[in-house]
Amino acid sequence: MINLEVPKKFGTLVNLAHQAAAEVFRPISRKYDTAEHTYPHELDMFTAMVDGMNASGESSGAGAGGVRRAEATKGEVHNGSNMSSALGIIEMCWGDVGLLLALPRQGLGNSAIASVATEEQQARCSGKWAAMAITESSCGSDSAAITTTARLDGDHYVLNGEKIFVTSGERADAVVVWATLDRSRGRGAIKSFVVEKGTPGLTVVGCEHKLGIRASDTATLHLQDCRVPVENLLGTPEILPDHGFAGVMQTFDNTRPLVAAMAVGVARAALEQTRTLLAEAGVTVDYDRPANAQHAAAAAFLAMEADWEAAYLLTLRASWMADNNKPNSLQASMAKAKAGRTGVDITLRCVELAGSVGYGERELLEKWARDSKILDIFEGTQQIQQLIVARRLLGKSSAELK
Ligand SMILES: Cc1cc2nc3c(=O)[nH]c(=O)nc-3n(C[C@H](O)[C@H](O)[C@H](O)COP(=O)(O)OP(=O)(O)OC[C@H]3O[C@@H](n4cnc5c(N)ncnc54)[C@H](O)[C@@H]3O)c2cc1C
Repeated sequence: MINLEVPKKFGTLVNLAHQAAAEVFRPISRKYDTAEHTYPHELDMFTAMVDGMNASGESSGAGAGGVRRAEATKGEVHNGSNMSSALGIIEMCWGDVGLLLALPRQGLGNSAIASVATEEQQARCSGKWAAMAITESSCGSDSAAITTTARLDGDHYVLNGEKIFVTSGERADAVVVWATLDRSRGRGAIKSFVVEKGTPGLTVVGCEHKLGIRASDTATLHLQDCRVPVENLLGTPEILPDHGFAGVMQTFDNTRPLVAAMAVGVARAALEQTRTLLAEAGVTVDYDRPANAQHAAAAAFLAMEADWEAAYLLTLRASWMADNNKPNSLQASMAKAKAGRTGVDITLRCVELAGSVGYGERELLEKWARDSKILDIFEGTQQIQQLIVARRLLGKSSAELK
């Protein structure tokens, strides 16, 4: 039977993450929203704590870097690092999603490495903060159109191209770059490569000013004749046409539930604050009376909570499936689509319910509404998630349903 309680063994992790969100993230949330592109040095101590927890084995993956799939154990169910990462991220994004994204060594590149690297590669990348670079000026949603190339030259690959909108692209120690081995051979030729900061030929061109998540740097990277050792290719170098993006797309099965978890965390922050503000205005939410017999704001609140619960449960399901080595592309996209949209809807509705108080900067509601939007864009937009869900349900290929 499915058990929807937070697994007991993750209780400590959830409490610690919540405490950190309340005591480290919240107090500096507005500061780094205003001081865009300034590194939040307050995170250093916190990062050391997360590293310590991971090293001591006290938590099986306290951040985005822990999403490694265990081999399925026959007949046993398992709550592992995908679930603990999602639960920890929900709590920390209740504190501040921009700061979570700015946390050293917890980048989406770390998830990409954890998802597809061999044991040897995983060990070599351990302790490194990795960003993930897929998007280019001519390809966002359509990642099959990647133009960055990787040419084999002796025992190195030579990378050429430009990547835009790379989260943590300026601050991270390494970047996981998607590039094609041979454009004429389609998706199967797209591979991911770990490029360490300081590698000749890799330059940070600049950072973006953004609507939200301003504590997180978003960089443009240029790769010119950038040589990386062959062993930095993640997964298999073989071009397998019938495997599509095999080796790179599976990263998304692990990372999309994490982005969904971010949206769930921010939305919960907005709901909690709105409940407080409504109570101060004399509106209480009553769970024993029908919504349509209550104040309109209370009825709206109840509807938002129901939506939030659906997003939360879909996120946990997708993470649980990853932990149990079950194919979860459909469920990961469902979770990301539902949570991404719910996050945007809830945070903006909370601004509306709180009126001018919600729109002003004394509260964080307006910030959460700005921060939420990206969670419905990166790692695949709302529309792309819906497209993936439709393809999976209808049994259509990407060529048949575009
Ligand atoms: C703050 C920020 C951080 C980011 N971080 C990273 C990162 O770390 N690494 C990285 O690689 N990228 C990153 N991105 C890029 C992000 O993943 C892309 O912006 C996203 O995938 C969408 O691509 P696009 O912007 O090119 O939009 P487009 O693909 O041009 O899409 C524009 C619109 O058209 C819709 N659309 C596109 N195709 C279809 C279709 N077939 N059917 C229906 N609708 C469609 C989209 O949903 C969207 O609404 C980041 C972006 C931002 C803003």
